[in-house]
Amino acid sequence: MILSLLFLSLNLSSLFRLSASRGSAADRFYRSGDVHVDGIYVRSGRQLLAGENFRMTEEQYIQMLDKLAQGYMSNFDLDKAIKDFHRRCSNISRIYSIGKSVLGVPLWTIEISNMPGKKEAEPAFKFIGNVHGDEPVGRELLLLLANWLCDNYKSDPLATLIVDNVHLHILPSMNPDGFALRRRNNANNIDLNRDFPDQFFPLNDDMDLRQPETKAIMNWVDDIEFTASASLHGGALVANYPWDGTEDKKRKYYGCPDDETYKFLATLYSGSHYNMSKSTEFPQGITNGALWYPIYGGMQDWNYIHHGCFELTLEISDNKWPNASELPTLWEYNRMSMLNLVAGIVKTGIHGRVISSDEGKPLPASITLRGINYTIAASKSLADYHRLVAPGQTYEVIVTMPGYKPKSACVDGDRAVTIDFVLEPAHGNDSQVLEGSGCYIGSKSRFQVMEYMPEPQLQLYVLLIILISAFLCLAMRKKSLRSNHHMVNQRHSPQPKRAAV
Ligand SMILES: [Zn+2]
Repeated sequence: MILSLLFLSLNLSSLFRLSASRGSAADRFYRSGDVHVDGIYVRSGRQLLAGENFRMTEEQYIQMLDKLAQGYMSNFDLDKAIKDFHRRCSNISRIYSIGKSVLGVPLWTIEISNMPGKKEAEPAFKFIGNVHGDEPVGRELLLLLANWLCDNYKSDPLATLIVDNVHLHILPSMNPDGFALRRRNNANNIDLNRDFPDQFFPLNDDMDLRQPETKAIMNWVDDIEFTASASLHGGALVANYPWDGTEDKKRKYYGCPDDETYKFLATLYSGSHYNMSKSTEFPQGITNGALWYPIYGGMQDWNYIHHGCFELTLEISDNKWPNASELPTLWEYNRMSMLNLVAGIVKTGIHGRVISSDEGKPLPASITLRGINYTIAASKSLADYHRLVAPGQTYEVIVTMPGYKPKSACVDGDRAVTIDFVLEPAHGNDSQVLEGSGCYIGSKSRFQVMEYMPEPQLQLYVLLIILISAFLCLAMRKKSLRSNHHMVNQRHSPQPKRAAV
């Protein structure tokens, strides 16, 4: 009996964990107005119990959710907290709404910078909380983050670095209606993290069906050229990175062209966290989305594909509704991760501007790295670019712009590098294709060196390896014949005679 109960609770907790976070499996269990999740509903502490005996009435369920939400900010409280923050920290912030929810709640956003609202040649980062209405920890932590930056600007080096060098945009709640309804989906019962255009399937291509919250995010990302971002979720403890979906819908590791960079960013978060990297479920506290479980129409992949924005999906609390008294602890657990992730976009990566040699005008050129099939654009207004990379490698940055001669440069990815490109106008027969610059790309392994060796030299190199191998083979064969002979001799040699005393 005890064993079967244990078995049941283990199965249920893993089921809940899977369904609870980014949530493809969740769609099977969470429906509007449902009060039964396949018979799984009641929480006893952090455990879930199941079975007919534990079913609740809708009224009981709502009472339970209201109890869970005790101590959390209501939408009204959040609205007030954002405005109070801005009043207190107006020198380094502005607030603006990116749109409205289905029920008309403004999606208030905080921008933190020493020049809020001004275009600067600096990277922008965004944090989005409460994508799922029933994952409220993120919206609380984001207000704590904003206030911490305000309190520590000019006294803490990390706070000062972020405020002075990054435009940090914080949307504490993307789904205020879902929060008010104490459920995952928005007021139209749509999962907002399944509502974005998908790279493999046309499921969300109909603009008319797109939710107002999703549209607001899409317009926002069109307007502000974010370098990186993170959305905050609950129900697990892991930093999740693209791709989230696979072409064949199979669950497997499916990395995007910037897999190494993403692993670096995810590890930056998990490694700075109190215990995320100690996860027994996810090595190093990070996971590829499709390996965990594939989802389609997610926000993360869309950001990377359409806007050059490196987004992570952060699961920051195993329990979706921890007791509100635990929020200060959760803030402490996540504080350094959040700060290091934002600061990471200026402490690493390749940065600079692209301008024309003739008039010195900013050029919104394309920036690629040799060997990585991905392009970001320099910003439209100031032509600054911010290309995140994984440290430990050398990169060849290639800059192209129609009507201009392309340029490239070799860059060491170990630390942040600033490199400006001045492009000359191209004339009739100037080539638009850039030859390899001879950078040693990658980790400088012998394989990489071979890859970039000029062809005649490469052939010579291969011939030399064949000759050396043949010589070694012959030498080994001779040696082994000799040792066999020796062994035979040994086997047949009589035991040494005991010395006569
Ligand atoms: Zn979520």
